[in-house]
Amino acid sequence: MNDSINLKKYIREIPDFPKPGILFRDITPLLAEPTVFQEVINRLTAYYQDKKITAVLAAEARGFIFAAPLALALRARFIPIRKPGKLPFETKAFHYELEYGTDSLEMHTDSIHSDDRVLIVDDLLATGGTISACIELANHSQAEVVSCAFLIELSFLKGREKMNGCDVFSLIQYD
Ligand code: 5GP
Repeated sequence: MNDSINLKKYIREIPDFPKPGILFRDITPLLAEPTVFQEVINRLTAYYQDKKITAVLAAEARGFIFAAPLALALRARFIPIRKPGKLPFETKAFHYELEYGTDSLEMHTDSIHSDDRVLIVDDLLATGGTISACIELANHSQAEVVSCAFLIELSFLKGREKMNGCDVFSLIQYD
């Protein structure tokens, strides 16, 4: 690991995206620096390597970017969670409430086993809606959700409080 790298420096702030009033945290400058991207994976790997993770779950699309290399580093299975109609095999779905309306996510029925120790990964924790849906999907399979990992946590939105006591680990926080 290289503690001298300041990850926050590589997050670009875009005002009014995707809607007026929203300050979007753009991760693409970080992804464009291989040593910094690698440092993110190294720091996440260091935190999780002794936690006996067997499956890494992530929802499309930005969650995949960090979950796939982390799964390889942890020698764990990578399990994609997708928007409805995208997965080809038998699926189970979870419907959840958004500020306006509902959304749903799907997972292959054979992807998680009851004895799995699951890690859920996303690029950013905001209100916690997306990650709560992923936790519900994992809970359906009776697997233990060991922790949820994020590159960025918008702490002021208190998404952590929606995690029902599940461990939360993030590398960058905005208060
Ligand atoms: P939540 O469900 O916690 O409210 O929102 C988190 C989800 O929305 C994540 O999947 C994340 O990719 C996306 N998201 C929301 N705001 C931002 C942002 O400012 N930057 C990025 N990169 N993703 C965001």
